[in-house]
Amino acid sequence: MTQHNRALSELAAVASPLADAQAGAPDLAQGLAPPVSAARGEEFRDDLRTPGALNAQARKALSAQELLPFTQLDDVRSLLAMAQTGLLLVVAGALIVGLWGSPWMLAGVVLMGIAQHSLFILSHEAAHYRLLSHRGANDVLGRLIGMSSGVSMCTYRVTHRLHHNNLYGSEDPDTAIHGGYPRGRAYLLRKLAQDIVGWNAWKTYAYFFGAPAINEDTQRAIRPLDDTSPQLRKAARQDRYWVVGAHIAMPLLAYALAGWHGLVVYLVVWILPLMTTLQPILRLRAVCEHGAVSDLSSPLTAARSNRTLGNGPNRVLGAVLFPHHVNYHLEHHLYPAVPHYHLPALHLALQTRGVLDDAEVRDIPETLRMIFAPRKPKAAAGSSHV
Ligand SMILES: [Zn+2]
Ligand SMILES: [Zn+2]
Repeated sequence: MTQHNRALSELAAVASPLADAQAGAPDLAQGLAPPVSAARGEEFRDDLRTPGALNAQARKALSAQELLPFTQLDDVRSLLAMAQTGLLLVVAGALIVGLWGSPWMLAGVVLMGIAQHSLFILSHEAAHYRLLSHRGANDVLGRLIGMSSGVSMCTYRVTHRLHHNNLYGSEDPDTAIHGGYPRGRAYLLRKLAQDIVGWNAWKTYAYFFGAPAINEDTQRAIRPLDDTSPQLRKAARQDRYWVVGAHIAMPLLAYALAGWHGLVVYLVVWILPLMTTLQPILRLRAVCEHGAVSDLSSPLTAARSNRTLGNGPNRVLGAVLFPHHVNYHLEHHLYPAVPHYHLPALHLALQTRGVLDDAEVRDIPETLRMIFAPRKPKAAAGSSHV
């Protein structure tokens, strides 16, 4: 099999064999290698909501051949992204330890939360099999990255698959987080305040352990492990034991190395930011991606891309909320097989073709105005969120 054919097969497996068949887009591998199908219950479908006309049109903006270069994995770029996050973690840790006892150490705790969020985004990349080209290495590294911050990557893979395949539907486990906006300035501020004092951290980790919050509108709790292949379910269950084990071992190690002081340093440097400063970042990013979107009938308007370039506020807020190009969320839903480092080029390609003309692409301050806007009357809110 040539490299080109192998790449097409890989794309078909990761992206959406089912969706391609539904969308009548067999051009993906036409005349080339037969696509390798992901097992049922493991596929990340491209967003093909019903009515699917707008969606299928959006996806067809690029042919499979045109899309192919954007889906090529480049391990060096992923390793650089990991190194960047690693550097941020070291700087944040050094700030906390260096400023120990001073109120300024809080700046280090904030920076550590930002760095830990960056780890979450790398776990997301691994959950999509996009972190490294070798599947085994992708999963080992993805699991380690997730484990360090309390995330079971294998469980998240199962949960996140439902988000992609059922965006804003009743099976979307993330609707409990981002659905129903705008809910009024006070609501979101209250949630963010609860997040930063650690009140909601247990919900975050329940989510990453396969128990998303109950959707307030439908009163339904999604149980993602009921909807996946036996292999992914088994991997998710085993991975959770490893994550729990790691979080028992890490404080013991800190104590063994440096006694009570070591344990306190570990708790302040690592656990405190995980429970506090990371939490509002996770929520705000999720709500910026899907909250208060304009039209759920198309993937171009059901997910939002936030500009992190163009002006000062975009750059500053982008650096905090959207590491590793995760701001290109609309593009990510359209083509989940595209690794993070190709998303800016993909965005540009779609923009050049006019595909994004009426799409949900905003400056970050504009997004913030939308999600903090006054609550809609009940009927209007109901019509915009399934
Ligand atoms: Zn994703
Ligand atoms: Zn999403």
